[in-house]
Amino acid sequence: MNSSTPAISDNYRTYYEIFVRSFYDSNNDGIGDLKGVLQKFDYINDGNSSSKKSLNVGGIWLMPVMPSPSYHKYDITNYYAIDPQYGTMADFEALAAKCKEKNVSLIMDLVLNHTSSENKWFQSACASIGIPREHNPYCKYYNFSTEPQPGYEQVPQYSNWYYECQFGKNMPDLNLDEPLVRAEIVKIMKFWLDKGVSGFRLDATTSYYTGDNEKNTAFLKWLKTEATKINKNCYFVGEAWSTAGDIEELYGSGIDSFFNFPFSQISGLFIPAVRSENGSGVAEKLQSWQTDLLKINPKSIDAVFLTNHDNGRSSGMLNRDINMEKMAAALYMLAPGNSFIYYGEELGMTGSGRDENKRLPMLWSVTDKTGIPNAPPNAEYFVQPDKGVAEQLKDKSSLLNYYIKLIKIKNQNPEIARGIVKAITVQNAGIVAYSVKYNSSTLYVIHNLSTQPVTLTFSKDKYGYKKIIDNLSVSGKKVTLKSDNLTMPARSSVIIK
Ligand code: CA
Repeated sequence: MNSSTPAISDNYRTYYEIFVRSFYDSNNDGIGDLKGVLQKFDYINDGNSSSKKSLNVGGIWLMPVMPSPSYHKYDITNYYAIDPQYGTMADFEALAAKCKEKNVSLIMDLVLNHTSSENKWFQSACASIGIPREHNPYCKYYNFSTEPQPGYEQVPQYSNWYYECQFGKNMPDLNLDEPLVRAEIVKIMKFWLDKGVSGFRLDATTSYYTGDNEKNTAFLKWLKTEATKINKNCYFVGEAWSTAGDIEELYGSGIDSFFNFPFSQISGLFIPAVRSENGSGVAEKLQSWQTDLLKINPKSIDAVFLTNHDNGRSSGMLNRDINMEKMAAALYMLAPGNSFIYYGEELGMTGSGRDENKRLPMLWSVTDKTGIPNAPPNAEYFVQPDKGVAEQLKDKSSLLNYYIKLIKIKNQNPEIARGIVKAITVQNAGIVAYSVKYNSSTLYVIHNLSTQPVTLTFSKDKYGYKKIIDNLSVSGKKVTLKSDNLTMPARSSVIIK
């Protein structure tokens, strides 16, 4: 790159989603904790870009770490503290410092739609029921009504009062129109940005104003503006588990990223293509989605993933077939934008059905149980891969080593995350091919989803490339490119530049 090349935006990262409770238990009480994340930091990023023992992701998303009565902690009692099950504020600060040292972006879940019913704001408000609201500002924090309505529950001990709780009675919805609540939100963001976080994952953005995407977008625009005043680089990724149309509308808020739900899971883009060995239309959809997003927000960054903590594990959708898992990994890890890996996905961990099953303990080893937390309460599913982290690191053909290589390719080639995508039409249903152009540099990403080897004509004169710069295949066989003939082994991927 020459000196006129603009600086690479720091918000382009591969993120690793961590459920702290199930990650690593530092004090042997059965519950994963922040010290555990710190102790396993070398696995996340050891600062050595050619490391063979580290994922070397550029970002971590911590699921909620604030005090909460639930095991998942998506219902918060105190937005300015760490849940004692996970450790102390000093532990969090140590983790944030480590992230800074290794240039890892630390983002945390920010749950703004609702609090816990045990939050003192809600407790105080309920205790003041019937008293004019002016006497207790916390009465204004929630949506109370004297009329029963859908999504409302009765206030305990007050038969003629109801409160909004779209996610259930233990999660009262905050009144996001209330200036006092908005001031509180700004205070919360400042508190954590000052602690060293780089940004936030926004929980349940379509529920802020249930059914009113225009108001959701306006609220998110306000949120982004306020966060930018505190830290101009504050990164947001929003959860809008909704249609492409809704997500596009929400991008109008200026929020950096929204999870690409339409491309995720078994009915999305990546997994069905792998299952059917049919890549028709995949490159075109990547291109048209990116075109649409950039029109709405030129600074938008797609957030692609296979599955998250609310979905069945992707391994099950891929028949627990390591070759299919590798192919799916290549598709979303080499897609434009930020790829989000759910902890354990890189090992082929499984789990479906009730939520607890999707959030099982990280499989550090199948023989050494050190630091492996207990499963969440009520988990009922315990089938796991034959190999954990320790065993897979030693196995050249493991899924984990495939992920490590893919992350490295994405890290080393800024065009993949940041470039403008252009689909290349290939008369072979098993092929996904596109170029990505970033500044003046173009590279080509080509996948063969088929279980058969394929030879394609890929003209050097037409595409102006020099050579293969990286490749990988499920069998370990190399992709070759000779005299415009590109030969791709079964289920393989190549980067040509
Ligand atoms: Ca612990």
